[in-house]
Amino acid sequence: MTIFTAEHRQLMQMLHPGRHQEYSDVLTSLGSFMEKELLPLSPKLDSGDEPIDRPRSALFAQGMSLIPFPAQYGGLGLPFSVYAMAVELLGTADASVALSVEIHNAVAEGVLRFGSEPQRERYLGPMITGRRLASFALTEPASGSDAGNMATTAEKRAGEYVVNGSKMFITNAGEANVYLVFAKTSKGPSCFLLEPPSAGLKFGAELKKLGMRGSKTREVIFSDCRIPEENLVGEEGKGADYAKAILHGARIVVAALNVGISQLAYDKALAYARQRHAFGRTISDFQLVREKIADTKTGINAGRLLYLYASRIKELGGDYSSEASQAKVFATEMSLKACDDAIQIHGGYGYTTEDIHRHWRDARLLTIGEGTSEVLRMLISRRELARAQ
Ligand SMILES: Cc1cc2nc3c(=O)[nH]c(=O)nc-3n(C[C@H](O)[C@H](O)[C@H](O)COP(=O)(O)OP(=O)(O)OC[C@H]3O[C@@H](n4cnc5c(N)ncnc54)[C@H](O)[C@@H]3O)c2cc1C
Repeated sequence: MTIFTAEHRQLMQMLHPGRHQEYSDVLTSLGSFMEKELLPLSPKLDSGDEPIDRPRSALFAQGMSLIPFPAQYGGLGLPFSVYAMAVELLGTADASVALSVEIHNAVAEGVLRFGSEPQRERYLGPMITGRRLASFALTEPASGSDAGNMATTAEKRAGEYVVNGSKMFITNAGEANVYLVFAKTSKGPSCFLLEPPSAGLKFGAELKKLGMRGSKTREVIFSDCRIPEENLVGEEGKGADYAKAILHGARIVVAALNVGISQLAYDKALAYARQRHAFGRTISDFQLVREKIADTKTGINAGRLLYLYASRIKELGGDYSSEASQAKVFATEMSLKACDDAIQIHGGYGYTTEDIHRHWRDARLLTIGEGTSEVLRMLISRRELARAQ
C-alpha cells in the first residue's frame, strides 16, 4: 500500500503547477513515514496497548506541523492545501493521531492569527516543532453547538484573570502544555493561553469513547485558576469570533481526515471483495458489491475535491466558511457510509474484526465534533442566502 498515491500527486500538479514537485516530495516523505511507523501501530493505539505520545512526537519530528506556518516562526510556509492533504494521509495512517494533531495545529493557527508578537514568539515555534502540545478548550458540559453561551468566567483582578468553570470533551487535555481557553469577561467571550501546571487547574478522568480511542479526551476544570494578563489573546470580547475563525480552518482539515479514514476502509474492502468467494465466484463479481465499490470511490474523490477547493479559497484569501462546512458535512457523512459499506462487504468478519469496524467507530465522531452536521447545514444555508442577496 502507498498512502501518497499517483492520484494525490496528480491533484497537487493541478493545484500548484509551478511547485507541485516540491510539495509532492514533502508529502511522499511524510506518507512513507506514516506508512512505516504509524499505520502498523494503529490497532494498538485503538486497543490502548500503545500510548499516543511516542508516535505523535515522531510525527512532529518529521515536520508534520511545520507545513502551513511561516518560515519566520520555523515553519515551511507551504500552502494550506498541502497541509490538508498531509492530514488526509495521516487519517489513513491513524485517525486518533490525526485528531490530536489537527486540534494542536488549529490552536497554532489561532496563535498566529490572533496572538501578539510576544505570544507568537513564545508559543508558535515550540508548538509547530512539537515541543509543546496544545489543546483547544471551548465546549462546556452545558454548551457545545451554542458555545457562545459559555458559563466559564474570567474575572480581571490586579494584573491577572481568575478563571472559574469547566470545559468538556477536550482533546489532548491532561497531556497538553498549552491550552487555548475561552471564558467570559465583562466584555463577553474572550480567549486566553494557559500554561500548566497552574493552581486551580484540574482534569477529569479520561473519557471512554466509541472510537478515536488513541486520543485522550478529558474535562478541564478551573477553580480560581490564574492566567497572567499578557496571556489574553487579541481583544477581550472577541473570543467567539476567534473560535469561529479557527474552526472554519479546522473543518477543512476534518474533511481531509475523513477522506483519509474512508480511503483505508475502501482499500481493505476492495482487497477483501477480490479474494472472498461465494456462489463459486469472488464477491467482487456481484453487481450489488460493485455498487458499493463505485459509490465509495466516487465519494472519496468528491470529498477530496471539496476539501481541496475550500483549502484553495483559504490560500487565496477568500471567504471559505461555507465551503469548509460543505466539505466537512459531505466528507464526514460520506465516510460513515464508506466505513459501513466496508463492514458490509466483510460480512461477519467486518462486524467482529476490530481492524475493520474501528474505521466506522473513528469516523462516527466527526459528524459531531468541530460543528455538528445540523449546525453546519444552518451555517451553509445562512451564508448562501446572504450571498444570494
Ligand atoms: C471525542 C470528542 C473530542 C472533542 N474534542 C473537543 C476539543 O478538543 N475542544 C472542544 O472545545 N470541544 C471538543 N469536543 C466537543 C464537540 O465539539 C461537541 O461535542 C460538539 O460541538 C457538539 O456539542 P454538544 O456535544 O454539546 O452537542 P449539542 O450542541 O448539545 O447538540 C446535541 C444535538 O442537537 C443538535 N442541535 C444543536 N443545536 C441545533 C440547532 N440549532 N438546530 C438543529 N440541531 C441542533 C446537534 O446537531 C446535535 O445533534 C469533542 C467532542 C468529542 C465527543
